[in-house]
Amino acid sequence: MPIDLIIFDCDGVLVDSEVISCRVHAEMLTRAGYAITADQVFDRFLGRSSVESNREIEAELGRKLPDDFDASLKRAVIDELATSVEGMPHIADTLARISQKICVASSGIPDKIRTSLIRAGIHDRFAPHIFSASQVKRGKPEPDLFLFAARRMDAAPEHCLVIEDSIPGVMAARAARMTVLGFRGGAHYLEHPASAPQPAALLRAGALATFDDIRQLPAMIDKIASGETL
Ligand SMILES: [Mg+2]
Repeated sequence: MPIDLIIFDCDGVLVDSEVISCRVHAEMLTRAGYAITADQVFDRFLGRSSVESNREIEAELGRKLPDDFDASLKRAVIDELATSVEGMPHIADTLARISQKICVASSGIPDKIRTSLIRAGIHDRFAPHIFSASQVKRGKPEPDLFLFAARRMDAAPEHCLVIEDSIPGVMAARAARMTVLGFRGGAHYLEHPASAPQPAALLRAGALATFDDIRQLPAMIDKIASGETL
């Protein structure tokens, strides 16, 4: 199967941001009257859009979150990421070894994606091919964002390979009729092994295979493209 485009999720794949985001998210929800731990945020909201997450929480609370909750949360996460997020180990070297077109498709807002990629030193490797869920109607697990990215990159969905670390992300890629690999190399997999999606769960959601060292990716792409089993 020819592979024309590799679509990277950002958080938990390109940058090691999930531990930071979930900690800040849990702190702010708790302060707003919805007591929750970082582990629980991992379980329930990893890889999902904030619109969907907030809707679910408001339904349980039986009231609206503060009007400025979303904006404050996004600001707090970005501020924290801007000073402390790290690129996934070996990500820049690995991207340099990939010959196909590449792009980013993330549930985050553009400012968050840009801040993270710049700090990780890989922004210029992707720009301007950086797509955000804010550009489409429905976030992951719906296929909209991946289909949008493929269209903008002029690639057929069947010839796209998605790299995702979350269950909703894997489901979104499959719904877009794309091949998807489940990546398990982020710090949240090491620090919260019980909360992070297990290989079996990623495979069940539709991942072709899982891997935990980003350096494995170029060889996996070659194998998929030449029809070999992983
Ligand atoms: Mg992710």
